[in-house]
Amino acid sequence: MRVGVGYDSHRYDPQRPLILGGLEIPGHPGLLGHSDGDAVAHAITDALLGACALGDIGSHFPPDEERWRGADSMTLLASAVERVREAGFQPGNVDVVVVSESIRVGPVADRMRARVADVLDVPRTRVSIKGKSNEGMGWVGRGEGLAVHAVALVVSAP
Ligand code: MG
Repeated sequence: MRVGVGYDSHRYDPQRPLILGGLEIPGHPGLLGHSDGDAVAHAITDALLGACALGDIGSHFPPDEERWRGADSMTLLASAVERVREAGFQPGNVDVVVVSESIRVGPVADRMRARVADVLDVPRTRVSIKGKSNEGMGWVGRGEGLAVHAVALVVSAP
């Protein structure tokens, strides 16, 4: 088995809908980005690719390529899972921390876990998504954007 870590951050953009963990969450500014800005999907993608030493999300889905504009990041995650499988591995489990002063993850965590588990083709019990505030400190504390940390385990495919 192997382990990888992923990190992502995005600035809030009130002109966009908030897409996080494959869900549209009403009542909160969205995330600025070339794709849909889904930082949960991006951090998990980087953790899975990292576990297999397959580079990062930017090397597989370059942000300067027009075809990724507004892309559904769960589709990018699914593509990354394919590359993990091609490398002889399959997702084991993932653990995610969403650091935001204003997004309440708790009420939507189970729905996010279900979406991510579906794309990873693992039971929901292998996907953990937690929310954390930054206690008012720094750029997260000022409400400029959010940060997401993810750890992923992959295991050799049978
Ligand atoms: Mg991103």
